[in-house]
Amino acid sequence: MGRRRHRPLTATPAAGHARVVGDTTAGLVCGHHHLYSALARGMPAPLKTPTSFVEILEQVWWRLDVALDLEMLRWSAMLGALEALECGTTAIVDHHEGPSAIEGSLDVIAAACAEVGVRVRCSYGVTDRHGEDGARRGLEENERFLRSGGDGMVGIHAAFTCSDDTLEKAAGLAADLGVGVHVHVAEGDADVDAVTRLAPLVAEDWLVVHGVHLREPGELGRATLAHCARSNMHNAVGYARPRTWPGRVVLGSDGIGADMREELRIAYVRAREDDVTTAPTTPWEWLLAGAALVPGAASDRVRWSEEHADDPWYAAFTPGTTARDAWVDGDLVLATGKPTKVDAAEVRAKAAEQARRLFSRL
Ligand SMILES: [Zn+2]
Repeated sequence: MGRRRHRPLTATPAAGHARVVGDTTAGLVCGHHHLYSALARGMPAPLKTPTSFVEILEQVWWRLDVALDLEMLRWSAMLGALEALECGTTAIVDHHEGPSAIEGSLDVIAAACAEVGVRVRCSYGVTDRHGEDGARRGLEENERFLRSGGDGMVGIHAAFTCSDDTLEKAAGLAADLGVGVHVHVAEGDADVDAVTRLAPLVAEDWLVVHGVHLREPGELGRATLAHCARSNMHNAVGYARPRTWPGRVVLGSDGIGADMREELRIAYVRAREDDVTTAPTTPWEWLLAGAALVPGAASDRVRWSEEHADDPWYAAFTPGTTARDAWVDGDLVLATGKPTKVDAAEVRAKAAEQARRLFSRL
């Protein structure tokens, strides 16, 4: 493979001053996560195998999210934050859904991440799936959290589960607070109308997730696109062709961990499948752009298990790179692969215990 000039991991778009310090790089950012889903692995299979994107939501994710309480959420977020840190991901942009335990849920996620030592921007995905009252409570949770000083955005689940009134209220709240909206858009073909409905509301500070079934990508192109290559493959919804997005593109895991180097590799091969001339530098730019969502990550430091960790031509072909040491906001939060603020074995044991409670409800 040929070599080309590339922008190193440390030169982030949000902070041109970021630089290699010794043998460390900046922290990575997961541009779209669902920390509530960290306990989902191993969950009982649905009675009937889902055959479409909407059936996957109905039979897997909407069964899981309704069963969550705040204690399960706490350990799910702790596990997700721990796994992020172990992969050098020092910042997470989270999108939460949990209709049975809405009030205070964003505080639980923020506190769990703080306990592990990972940055998080929280949002609650507002939806009318549980009636007007559910939508109102979701909006209130976003507003309560943000007005009390929480770092986050206003979340919307997706246009196809929301009334126009809910979409307008969420967009209005985000504009009032100056934080932007974090929303799934056109992930499956059930949500193709999203662009038309959201186009009059969208602003530059919005984070649009998936964007697979867009008729007019330019209509929302002032916003940032979170590309979730693996999740889109897993749900068989199609390829988002992020290179056609006119604005900023970042990478998200959509809740399948927060190993952003792995997401980079998958985004790379998926882009190659669409266009064999794609170079690793393209998904690399998407990876780096995540720092625009959480600027503090640019000043975090990570020392990696592999040499050449800041070279996209190595990153695209090197599996299993992990963080050895990491500093977040100047604090050493990972030392020789072990978290310094929590006991990794205890977090995993508590998460497993909560997973058993969760599965017993499904
Ligand atoms: Zn998602």
